[in-house]
Amino acid sequence: MKAKLILFLSLLIVFFTMTSTTFAAEAGPARRDLIHLRILETTDLHSDLMNYDYYQTKVDNRIGLVKTATLIKEARKESKNTLLFDDGDHLKGNPLGEYLARIRGMHKGKIHPVYRAFNYLKYDAIAIGNHEFNYGLGFLKTALKGAKMPVLNANVYSVKTNKPYFKPYTILKRNIVDQSGIPHEIKIGVIALMPTHIMKWDKSNLEGKVFANPMVETAKKYVPRIKAEGADIIIALAHTGISSQPYHPDTENAVYYLTQIPEINVVLAGHSHSVFPGPVYEGLPNTDLETGIINGKPVVMAAAFGSRLGIIDLQLSHQAGKWQIVSQKSYTKPIADETGRSLVKTDKSLYNLVKEEHEETVDFIKKLGL
Ligand SMILES: [Zn+2]
Repeated sequence: MKAKLILFLSLLIVFFTMTSTTFAAEAGPARRDLIHLRILETTDLHSDLMNYDYYQTKVDNRIGLVKTATLIKEARKESKNTLLFDDGDHLKGNPLGEYLARIRGMHKGKIHPVYRAFNYLKYDAIAIGNHEFNYGLGFLKTALKGAKMPVLNANVYSVKTNKPYFKPYTILKRNIVDQSGIPHEIKIGVIALMPTHIMKWDKSNLEGKVFANPMVETAKKYVPRIKAEGADIIIALAHTGISSQPYHPDTENAVYYLTQIPEINVVLAGHSHSVFPGPVYEGLPNTDLETGIINGKPVVMAAAFGSRLGIIDLQLSHQAGKWQIVSQKSYTKPIADETGRSLVKTDKSLYNLVKEEHEETVDFIKKLGL
């Protein structure tokens, strides 16, 4: 009897010791569940895959995804958990884009070099920008067949079906490693938006085929759905600029108002080719240009043409049964200094991957005698 009682008491002690250590681990300072998540942005590439000025037919180290790619790879080396997004306007804007769309056309079975580059760099999702419509919906549809990642836009609708013309949002499931190396499945909701002005800018390509709904209202409609489907955080790929001008549903620059939607955690901005955080936005209300925060949300805009990489560093902690952002900072990194001197090497693999179309474009320009 006595032996049994001793055994029982010992078990009881072991049990209490175990439980108290478990509680101590949860409440203690180790922060086992603290994770770092880095979000990378390119925007408004306008077909500038190469560090090349087609108008002057010479190298230009201030532009080109072959340079930004090196920054992307460096950023991935520094952080175990990264996501890469493009914010739109990637197909049109330089002679390479023109040559492919208007002169040579897409060769059957060949992937457009922009999407070939995106596939190679393993973008997690991309947004459609207004300039993607410039060559018509047919060309866009053919080119997009080569994109291996989710291609998103939520506010352009098909006239025929009254449904979103593109995939409006996606939920990425990623195993994110915490500070002690333990993976956690995090669900990242991603939604994309663009200015409704496409209906004026690309009237001949779009009228009778698609229509556009206001960006902020569309985001408000979708975010509860994305949350209900289990997203831990929501990122908006907002192909739109930043302005605190009084809100108008058809604003071209909706970022400021998108940051006020509670469910949206992060906004990747674009379209206006500016740098955020940057001095252009001095005086924007409720904004911290040191940390790149507008209305409490991290925002980044990485200029244009691959000249900068946008970076948002988040720390998430598991609190009250859900992942919460406990620190956030946004910044951009340039590929060249103010004098145009290159700050990064060219990504040779990417260069080789897109050089065929680049050389064809240069040959074409030279033949024209331009
Ligand atoms: Zn744009």
